[in-house]
Amino acid sequence: MNLSQRLHETALVSADKTAYIFMDQKASYRELDMAVSKFSNGLKKLGIKKGDHIALIVGNTPHFIIGLYGALRAGATVIPINPIYTPDEIGFIINNGDVKLVVTLDVLLPLMEGIDRLIPQVENIIVCPTSNSGIEGEHQSLHIYPKLKTITFVIESGEAVYEETVIEDDDTAVILYTSGTTGKPKGAMLTHKNLYSNASDVGSYLKMNESDYVITALPMFHVFCLTVVLNAPLLTGAALLIMPKFSPKEVFHLAKKYSATVFAGVPTMYNFLYQYPDGTAEDLKSLRLCISGGASLPVSLLKAFEQKFGVLVSEGYGLSEASPVTCFNPLDRPRKPGSIGMNILNVQNRVVNELGEEVPAGQVGELIVKGPNVMKGYYKLPEETAAALKDGWLYTGDLARMDEDGYFYIVDRKKDMIIVGGYNVYPREVEEVLFAHPNIIEAAVIGVPDPNLGEAIHAFVVSNLDTLTAEDLTRYCQEHLAKYKVPSVFDFLEELPKNTTGKILRRSLKNHISQTI
Ligand code: AMP
Repeated sequence: MNLSQRLHETALVSADKTAYIFMDQKASYRELDMAVSKFSNGLKKLGIKKGDHIALIVGNTPHFIIGLYGALRAGATVIPINPIYTPDEIGFIINNGDVKLVVTLDVLLPLMEGIDRLIPQVENIIVCPTSNSGIEGEHQSLHIYPKLKTITFVIESGEAVYEETVIEDDDTAVILYTSGTTGKPKGAMLTHKNLYSNASDVGSYLKMNESDYVITALPMFHVFCLTVVLNAPLLTGAALLIMPKFSPKEVFHLAKKYSATVFAGVPTMYNFLYQYPDGTAEDLKSLRLCISGGASLPVSLLKAFEQKFGVLVSEGYGLSEASPVTCFNPLDRPRKPGSIGMNILNVQNRVVNELGEEVPAGQVGELIVKGPNVMKGYYKLPEETAAALKDGWLYTGDLARMDEDGYFYIVDRKKDMIIVGGYNVYPREVEEVLFAHPNIIEAAVIGVPDPNLGEAIHAFVVSNLDTLTAEDLTRYCQEHLAKYKVPSVFDFLEELPKNTTGKILRRSLKNHISQTI
């Protein structure tokens, strides 16, 4: 079984059930499956064969889903790319990923044409309209540039028959280029089995079912959205409420209008929802579950959010290389705030020391993961693959500990740990304290070189009080943290730099310091 086959089966048994709602327009499973088949057949007419690579540079629209499932049905490998990447970043991925066909947005065409001249292997560029504007057919270049076709043309050119290409479990379904902190991004190859097993294991663990309405606010190109918010609900026959872009106002509006049952977001989204002045518990009363992942959710925010809106927030953990989910707080056992939960179905998590040996409960080590969700390797990078995958275990680079009950806690990224005068400081524990301050809206700390201590702690905060000073915060931290964990500098910013997934960009904070020195 694979994702595309399963979509077709759902369309056979629940043909009229809503698959998604986008800009107030509904599509049933039959309509979605039909569009997927037609697009898949249209791709084959353009010469796409099993194993060809297709880049998907599309925002949060139904075209992303049709593009993804249509390409998988044709046996192609999909490389989803963030539409806001620069030409250099997109060009690198298209080149490195041996992309033969690109599906992109009309607004990105000028950029794509530039890239295409440099990358001759791209044979076709398929253009999707930005949201529902319908302007795809109007773009000047469509008439003069033979490689360009509109997505409507490709869908209409394909026959309306379901034809599944023979796919093996181990065939690569997607390649996800992970941002990486140094050097160029690496392409994690996820197989059909990886994607299918993780979506179905997460779906059962979170009890997703056909009566769910899931708010799709996360960017679809990111693996958290791909598995938890697209594939898992579609596997269970649930309906997606697609948001072109996250906005707190729209989340409250959609939740109320369509009686949404599940919301998934990264911690910064929870912060925005919590701070939004016009959002009420009444708007969210139909939600049965809020899912948080992608970065650590401060315990104070989790508690404040649950108290304000009366809805359960369950935190989980994952990474691109594991398709992504490895842990989640269970729904039928006690949930532990601050924890990423327990092993999901079929996946093992373990905490190990530098020698790869498991450490006792309570002790900090590197988190390693094994299961059907773990990637095949990095595309064309055998050395990096060998460093990340040892004896079937994926080394995550995250430091964690497990408690006596089998719940895991992320301590921090291994490389983000700060060493102050020989003491280890995990940014997260300092950030948790800062976050609990009533006048701090956002907080992040990083290590900076210090001639005496090796490293010192530099804090960045966003406050809702103009009169809050560094002295106030130093005093506050001294009350809650050991002396060596108290930041030596507090920088007040308007907002913290974040990527499109909402993760705080620590690298930008480091650059901020070097630019201001
Ligand atoms: P990505 O591959 O972009 O999904 O990023 C994966 C990384 O996000 C992990 O290696 C962790 O460092 C971080 N991450 C994901 N979920 C959590 C979580 N619940 N708590 C802390 N860090 C997380």
